Amino acid sequence: MSVSNDSAAEARFQAISAAGSRQPRQFLVNGRPATEAGPISGYFGSSTFNEEAMRDKLPNRVFEKLRQTVREGKMLDLDIADTVAHAMKEWALEKGASHFCHWFQPQTGLTAEKHDSFLSFDDEGQAIERFSGNQLIQSEPDASSFPSGGMRSTFEARGYTAWDPASPAFIMEGVNGRVLCIPSIFISYDGAALDQKAPLLRSMDALSKRAADILDIFGEDVSGRVISTVGPEQEYFLIDRAFFHLRPDLMAAGRTLIGAKPPKGQELEDHYFGSIKDRVKAYMHEVEYELYRLGIPAKTRHNEVAPAQFEMAPIFEEANIAADKNQLAMEVMRRIAGKHDLALLFHEKPFADINGSGKHVNWSLQKANGTNLLEPGDTPTRNLQFLVFLTAVLKGVHRRGALIRASIASSGNDHRLGANEAPPAIMSVFLGEQLTRILDDIESGANGSDTTEKRLLKLGISKLPSIQRDNTDRNRTSPFAFTGNKFELRAVGSAFSISFPLAMVNAAVSEGLEAMARDIRSRQKDGTPLEKAVMDVVRDAVIETKDIRFEGNNYSEEWVEEASRRGLPNLRKTPEALEVLLRADEKKLLKRLGIFSAAEVESRYAVKMERYIKDLEIEVETIKDMAATMVLPAAVRFQTQLAAASIAVSQSLSGIKDARVDAALGYQQMQLRDVTAHAGKLHETLEQLDVAMAKAQRQNKLGKQGRVLADEVLGLLEGLREHCDALEEQIPDGYWPLPKYREMLFIC
Ligand code: ADP
Ligand code: MG
Repeated sequence: MSVSNDSAAEARFQAISAAGSRQPRQFLVNGRPATEAGPISGYFGSSTFNEEAMRDKLPNRVFEKLRQTVREGKMLDLDIADTVAHAMKEWALEKGASHFCHWFQPQTGLTAEKHDSFLSFDDEGQAIERFSGNQLIQSEPDASSFPSGGMRSTFEARGYTAWDPASPAFIMEGVNGRVLCIPSIFISYDGAALDQKAPLLRSMDALSKRAADILDIFGEDVSGRVISTVGPEQEYFLIDRAFFHLRPDLMAAGRTLIGAKPPKGQELEDHYFGSIKDRVKAYMHEVEYELYRLGIPAKTRHNEVAPAQFEMAPIFEEANIAADKNQLAMEVMRRIAGKHDLALLFHEKPFADINGSGKHVNWSLQKANGTNLLEPGDTPTRNLQFLVFLTAVLKGVHRRGALIRASIASSGNDHRLGANEAPPAIMSVFLGEQLTRILDDIESGANGSDTTEKRLLKLGISKLPSIQRDNTDRNRTSPFAFTGNKFELRAVGSAFSISFPLAMVNAAVSEGLEAMARDIRSRQKDGTPLEKAVMDVVRDAVIETKDIRFEGNNYSEEWVEEASRRGLPNLRKTPEALEVLLRADEKKLLKRLGIFSAAEVESRYAVKMERYIKDLEIEVETIKDMAATMVLPAAVRFQTQLAAASIAVSQSLSGIKDARVDAALGYQQMQLRDVTAHAGKLHETLEQLDVAMAKAQRQNKLGKQGRVLADEVLGLLEGLREHCDALEEQIPDGYWPLPKYREMLFIC
């Protein structure tokens, strides 16, 4: 067999040249350079039907009613729906929209939209634009092809989408047209959640009720809602688009399945917070311009640890709004990347041997008046309250760590959680030195005989200093870290919708708050004064949850051992993590809190497990294809050449007795042997892979199939990679068709 195509690497060299010569893209705002767009506040939210637009377009009475609806987190009243729809349409038409869509979040991890034009006919048959209250409140997409995990069989195609009025409608721009998007929930005809958003909203309600109950104990006005606030930090990679299109693995699986380690990766630590390259900066500016118009408060941007890795963080908002905006931001980021000839990678582990990407989900609780309930205050009462909320979180993670782990399970995230670069799959909470000391003091209860007031004073709780927030007190290895006035869930994957993880955190904390309220009340009933009752319950919670607190290095092997001694679950891979969703106790909790019915949880499990299986199947198909059509042909070509050279040389030098000649010939043959050995092993592993895949496909249960893939197939993928990468390091550069790490990560 001979490979005569001399241009195997031609496309790669063209890509290198294209990527290396591109200029930063400039964009125009109203025909003027973007640098003249003016202050952000001048156009922030201009593409959204926000309060200002509503006030402008709606009769006062309707505006007030709608605002009330939003504040209370309710669905829209039918009697104002027509008026609101009309106003929204007028506004959208002014903005140049011709169509509308209910924009929702099925369980694909992406968003979905089905467009309808405003076109209608009046009684005289004249073309007009029309948009009714019914169309605003509910729409009925033919939704049979969305993953539902068996919730809705395909013959029952009806799924409804209904506007979530808390999330403002917005205009989505296309090159040749604009669409009014109406953020919606997606439910089946009998009300079962089919999307990411409905359960999040339910969890927020559950949490609000339990938090209000605690406030009630403290004698506070609980008429407003307690909201969960969220600020998701989004990490991502950018590489030149030309490279992306030459990598079947990035295109199909979102990550490189093979690729030799470059001589330089992230070891110099020169990328993190480094100066941002012009092309990338130009990209970020255009992204942010779009985000601002959509009312997405992007705040920080910087280079991340790995080469070609970046981060964007917005200002926090109410959880459901933050979740919507994060999804929308991801869409915008992806779309704008194309305009800059960049490919955006949201996969959790696009490249081996350098950091992967996550989403740090900052989370807190806030009273209707804006008080952050996880922020210590200046009065003993406020600080007692703070301790109740803090320990309720500890209780939540202590009892439901596995559930939170399950909520962040995916094939992509497994690569992060398993590697020493991201929080491990073991859930624990980091509190920092100061709080740890306070909780330890509370635990030791040395001041047990003092009056509560004295105890508070001694513990330094009557006036807690604002908790140390500087970076030295940070533990970046913790999956769930307290950072002064909020928790940061760091284990969420970069490609995730944050809704499900948030819903599970909300569920866990709701349960914690519920237990605290119950215990405080029961002590009060026995005649214990409030402050003492609270302190006692907090102390019990501190003792009970001690095992979940960990201040050390979460990446270390010692922690894995220590966690196992403590009995903390370490669910390393997705299939075992997802099983948690099927446990009776977890189902019972989610049902009681009104977040998921048993059938809904089972469907989540099925959707996620199916997704895991499909992800791996795609990876297997892709790597097989790459090995057979790219790697092995390049190897054969080199082998042929080495063999021919070795014969030619030995023939022309035959009869010459010279040690140097023997050494050279020996070297050629050694190289030939080596390449042949790797090619042979590669071939063998491909055959083993087929056997393992057949075994996986024989399993009659999703869970079992997932386990075979996790336990047997993944290892073979790694094995394949090893041989491919060894070959990449030996085969002449000019024969190698795939963009290399050193090119993808550094040329842009
Ligand atoms: P840090 O330095 O602790 O990471 P930043 O100020 O950089 O804090 O904020 C990180 C993210 O946390 C941002 O998205 C920010 O808006 C968000 N955040 C800040 N306060 C809160 C809060 N109370 N609730 C939720 N998110 C918050
Ligand atoms: Mg942070």
